Amino acid sequence: MTIQWFPGHMTRARRQIEEKLKLIDVAIELLDARLPASSRNPMIGDILGQKPRLVLLNKSDLADPAATERWVEKLAADQVRVLPIDASTGTGVRDILPRAKELMAPKYEAWRKKGMEPRPIRTLIVGIPNVGKSTLINRLAGRAVAATGDRPGVTKGQQWIKFGKEMDLLDTPGILWPKFEDPQVGFRLAATGAIRDEILNSEDVAFFTAKFLCKRYPGVFQERYGIETLPEDLEDPNQVVELLEAIGRRRGAVMSGGKINLAKASDVFLHDLRSGKLGRITLELPGLV
Ligand code: GDP
Repeated sequence: MTIQWFPGHMTRARRQIEEKLKLIDVAIELLDARLPASSRNPMIGDILGQKPRLVLLNKSDLADPAATERWVEKLAADQVRVLPIDASTGTGVRDILPRAKELMAPKYEAWRKKGMEPRPIRTLIVGIPNVGKSTLINRLAGRAVAATGDRPGVTKGQQWIKFGKEMDLLDTPGILWPKFEDPQVGFRLAATGAIRDEILNSEDVAFFTAKFLCKRYPGVFQERYGIETLPEDLEDPNQVVELLEAIGRRRGAVMSGGKINLAKASDVFLHDLRSGKLGRITLELPGLV
């Protein structure tokens, strides 16, 4: 369940992460490959400070592969070490350790100079709710150790999980808050289900998403719903609503009297998007956000 963030939550979450950071060598920041900018906590740089950081673009199975490639190039150009993964099946997960080791080079060197034997890399996974932190922890652990779902503030004693001989991982992730004051960011987060539908109205989210898809992935409406004609003028809200109604008509969101239930049509459409039934879609590209 996604929590609603208030200033008190944020302060507590930040403090908890800062406590955990003292214990670790490398922070593993999880972003959603479908919206790498919007799923990033705006204060992450400030919170992590100089701590070596590996950025993972999770749920890459749901993202547009060409867009993911662009994001990887962009982040790499910004000197960010980045890796696309899919925590639910494990794709890319085995590359985490080698990347983390690269980030450890200065520390290994310092240990070597002191004549110390290298110990396992200590890592922490951080990210906003629903980005896949628990799924990744469980996958790295090879068993269910982290409950999926979010409850900042309810940290029972944390433990190290061993990932092979060379990496240890804290079993409780660092939970960061998303930033959704910017309506565009909020809508993108909501489109993927990172913000609950009670917070942003699902009809508004569906409206925003349908408009975006008409621009960037116009083929999905034909492929999934057999809809041939798309809005000619995307700035005309009526035309976008008509598109959602057409989806509703084809997916049984019809009320007695033949009127379309727009709320239901929106839910069906968003469910299709979130579960990947509309294909692999990325909601923002570098340079455009
Ligand atoms: P957390 O809140 O960050 O711990 O996120 P969870 O691990 O609870 O995951 C949230 C949802 O995303 C769950 O339904 C997971 O099954 C799903 N999920 C996590 N990783 C992936 C992934 O790589 N691909 C897909 N398709 N779903 C994922």
